[in-house]
Amino acid sequence: MTDQQLAERLQQIFKHLHENPEVSWNEVKTTSYLANLLRQEGFEPHTFEHMTGLYVDIGKGTPKVGFRTDMDALWQEVDGQFHANHSCGHDGHMTMALGTIFLLKELAPTLPGAVRIIFQPAEEKAQGAKALMEQGVVDSLQFLFGTHVRPLVELQDGTYAPALHHGAAKLFTGTIHGVEAHGARPEQGVNAIEVAAALVDGLKRLWIRPSQSASIKMTQLQAGGTSTNIIPGTATFSIDARAQENETMEALTIGFEKVIEAVSLMYGAKIDYQVDAHIAAAQVNDTAKAIMKQAIIDVAGIENCTPEVVTPGGEDFHFYAYSNPQLQTTMLGLGCGVTPGLHHPQMTFNTDRLPTGAEIITRALVLALQQVERSEKK
Ligand SMILES: [Zn+2]
Ligand SMILES: [Zn+2]
Repeated sequence: MTDQQLAERLQQIFKHLHENPEVSWNEVKTTSYLANLLRQEGFEPHTFEHMTGLYVDIGKGTPKVGFRTDMDALWQEVDGQFHANHSCGHDGHMTMALGTIFLLKELAPTLPGAVRIIFQPAEEKAQGAKALMEQGVVDSLQFLFGTHVRPLVELQDGTYAPALHHGAAKLFTGTIHGVEAHGARPEQGVNAIEVAAALVDGLKRLWIRPSQSASIKMTQLQAGGTSTNIIPGTATFSIDARAQENETMEALTIGFEKVIEAVSLMYGAKIDYQVDAHIAAAQVNDTAKAIMKQAIIDVAGIENCTPEVVTPGGEDFHFYAYSNPQLQTTMLGLGCGVTPGLHHPQMTFNTDRLPTGAEIITRALVLALQQVERSEKK
């Protein structure tokens, strides 16, 4: 396949995926489109009985190196109408994954091992990575790469970063069980609003090392009914915690638990809570990052290779390394002029960068296979 042929094929594929967006866990037509296309190319894609998503292996033997793309779109208002919309660039990521498969197909006879390309559903819900891990999809892998298109404020169009440092996020919801009382008899009640205020105050007292960026705050509080002369016994609340590193998030979580325990004891109020969502921060592996950097230099030139990007957003790709410490991972940051920004209903980017992205990913996978081969010979 010539560069021109690859570029044309990927433009066609991107157009189809972009015009057929599907939200998290609903990537049904996307899954069958990808599976059919791969079958036409002579592959045997593996799909799942009870969920969307698929993977395909290229080369001989058990795959030890992999690439993961996400698949889902967002549900949002575009020009006054709500519908699914690919405003996070996952259509572009799938296109690059297919480009990588086409390039690997040509290299297959010379590959020193097998590569697994994974199409993961439900990234936007931070559930897809966990679901695929439960299916054992990454069990045999030593290296796993991902990618994400980057907004112009982070990367210039046509430049590439060997790692994306996403932060960690944790969302808690809870209920305060105090005691209701007449407004004239506060001593007979336990005011849930006062308990919540003590929680807010306690959270402000959590000190984290100043060199590590982190925050924890109450983001929702509901208490009281329609009467203004009743001391409310019950309140529900939400807490949002952010940290650039996973260990900082663990410290915040321990601090949060202590505040809950102390406030509960002080007021004699039971406080229930649960973790509603957890996104792990990036755990970039040095070897994986060095491989990605080399791949960028080989394909796009050293002048277009940037330092790694630190970004406050979250990405469920990082659960793979968080849950499998032996897995060496990094994400390629693709500078393709995303404007006005990710998740914006009118988000657009330069799709001419997709073939370059596919070539960088392919190169990184080949370099990782060679790395695995070298370490196994030792
Ligand atoms: Zn997104
Ligand atoms: Zn995304």
